[in-house]
Amino acid sequence: MVWTQGCSLGCAGCFNPETHAPAGPVRTVPDVVAEVLAAGAGDGVTVSGGEPLEQPEALAAFCAALRQGPDPGIVVLTGFARAEIERDPVLAAAVADADMVVAGRYNARLHLGAGLRGSSNKEYWPITARYSAEDFGTVPEGEILIAADGTATITGMRPMTGMLRTTGKDARGAR
Ligand code: SF4
Repeated sequence: MVWTQGCSLGCAGCFNPETHAPAGPVRTVPDVVAEVLAAGAGDGVTVSGGEPLEQPEALAAFCAALRQGPDPGIVVLTGFARAEIERDPVLAAAVADADMVVAGRYNARLHLGAGLRGSSNKEYWPITARYSAEDFGTVPEGEILIAADGTATITGMRPMTGMLRTTGKDARGAR
């Protein structure tokens, strides 16, 4: 999972307000690609945020680099709607090398408990035939990964605040 920092879309009820400020350490695309490859891209890479499409050139370069390498499946989670992406050549280019885009603003009133859409108004948009919406139907609402060094990483569609008492160094939620 790659998290991008910075989002100005302002969905009410967003689970990741700490990712909204466009601040923090700046990573280069080659640096992030190298880290992803070193970790083992496995069956796929998911890019979330924050808002990946507010860094469209970097996202395009990241996806293209993976395509030229191990060619893992690439899923992009974005708050932009498909129509917004399709009418903007820069945004369209940013997801051209992805396999699946999960597109649209999060709507708390339409929250879903499983899958990658977060809320039912969001759209699975397959760019290639690699994945279908059914492939993500059983993704749980949340997941806690505890590494050998005790580091706990919380991911998923809803933060599990209060469920985990951790001494780990990194615990964060994802949308
Ligand atoms: S749900 Fe996603 S797109 Fe919406 S404000 Fe939060 S990070 Fe931004």
